[in-house]
Amino acid sequence: MTVLRAVFLDVDDTLVDFDRAARASLGATLGADADYELWRTLDHYRRYESGELDFQTMRDLRMADFLAMVGRDDDVPSAPGLEARRFDGLAQHYALYDDVLPCLDMLRARGLLLGLITNNIASHQRHKIAAVGLAELFDAVVISGEVGVAKPDPAIFEHACNVLGVGAHEAMHVGDNLVADARGARDAGLLGVWLDRRGAHRGAHRDLELGVTVVSGLAQLADLVA
Ligand SMILES: [Mg+2]
Repeated sequence: MTVLRAVFLDVDDTLVDFDRAARASLGATLGADADYELWRTLDHYRRYESGELDFQTMRDLRMADFLAMVGRDDDVPSAPGLEARRFDGLAQHYALYDDVLPCLDMLRARGLLLGLITNNIASHQRHKIAAVGLAELFDAVVISGEVGVAKPDPAIFEHACNVLGVGAHEAMHVGDNLVADARGARDAGLLGVWLDRRGAHRGAHRDLELGVTVVSGLAQLADLVA
């Protein structure tokens, strides 16, 4: 039987309540009535992840398209400036979910190594990780922008395991994205855990149906590492 030695965690919407920060900053930039649910439906970030758009182009285009969608055509030429304000404003609203620090304490108490594996550009993500006080709590911080590969590519999970000196079969990775986090980790040989905070997938057989272990909150990791 393999002994678990390391736990990796995703950052956005796993540890950092990015959704809350994004909603608050959109409202601060465009007005409290800005339709965040509509903003969430835009697929520009996926187009950045697939390599179709670079990061800055993606951001400016997303804001311009959003303004057009909500009928603010006069603001479309100002999209780059508005996007800069929205993006810079995110940092003021970053916060950890309530279950993060108790979970990290529990994992530490069990003698486990801790790492972050996150997809983003490095400077932005380093800033965020420091802003919420996570930087000093982890033994390894692996950012796709620095490594050159992104989740769900097995190479980023292998790299993270190498940084901590553990084998893939000795590690678990937990994240809110079923494909990039849970299945990506599983396919790299780690225990892949999907954090389904919204309870999107229920049912007694969901682990079998999805092919990964599912939890609805970080407190449930205590049972998985026991
Ligand atoms: Mg995430």
